[in-house]
Amino acid sequence: MADTSKVIEIIKKIIADVDEQKLFLTELDNVIGDGDHGINLARGFDAVAAVMDTFEGKDIGAIMKAIGMKLVSTVGGASGPLYGTAFMKAGAYLNGKTEMNLDDFIGMLEVAIDGIMKRGKAVKGEKTMLDAMIPALDAMKESYGADGDAKKALDAGVAAAEEGIEYTKTIIATKGRASYLGERSIGHQDPGATSFTLMLKAVQALA
Ligand code: ADP
Ligand code: MG
Repeated sequence: MADTSKVIEIIKKIIADVDEQKLFLTELDNVIGDGDHGINLARGFDAVAAVMDTFEGKDIGAIMKAIGMKLVSTVGGASGPLYGTAFMKAGAYLNGKTEMNLDDFIGMLEVAIDGIMKRGKAVKGEKTMLDAMIPALDAMKESYGADGDAKKALDAGVAAAEEGIEYTKTIIATKGRASYLGERSIGHQDPGATSFTLMLKAVQALA
C-alpha cells in the first residue's frame, strides 16, 4: 500500500489540501463553533511542512510520531490534542515500519480512534470527527475482509466517511464547542468529521 516515500507524499498532499480547504473548514466551524478549525489545522500542518526535511531516513512510525508532536504543540483548540494524539498513537503502532499494507493502516486507524475517544471522552454519535472515522474504519475492515482489495477498501472508507459527514448534520452536538448550541447544531456538518475525510481522501488518492 505505501512505503516511507509514499507516506511522505501523502503527508505533502494533506498539507496542501488542508491549506486549500482552510477557509471552508473555518466557515463550517464558524456556524457551530468559534471559526478556527481550518486556521488551527493549517497552522499545524504548516509547522509539519517546515520540518518535512527531517523525515528523510526515518521510518513511518517515527514520521507519524513527529507529526503528532508538531500538531499537539501548534494546533491548539480541541482538535490539536485530538489529532496530535491520533498521529502519536499511529506512530507508536507503526514503529520501525518502512512499508505498510492495508492491515497496518486499519490497525493504525483503530489505535488512533481509541486514542481520540479516550482523550476526548467521546463516543460515536456526538457530532465529532469520530462520526466520520468510526464508519470509515468499519467499512474498510468489512471491504478488505471480504476480498483483500486495498483500493476498494479505501474507496469504501471514503464513502463511509462522507456518509458520516452527512450523518453529523442530523444530530445534536454533545461534545466540544458545538454542544453549546444544543438543538441549533442540527443541520450543520461537523468540521472535524470534514477534516478527517479530507485526510482519508489524500490516502485514497495516492496509496
Ligand atoms: P475548538 O472546538 O476548540 O475550537 P477546533 O475548532 O479546532 O477546536 O476543532 C473542532 C472539532 O473538534 C469539532 O468539529 C469536532 O470534530 C472535534 N471535537 C471537539 N471535541 C471533541 C471530542 N471531545 N472528541 C472528539 N472530537 C472532538
Ligand atoms: Mg473551533
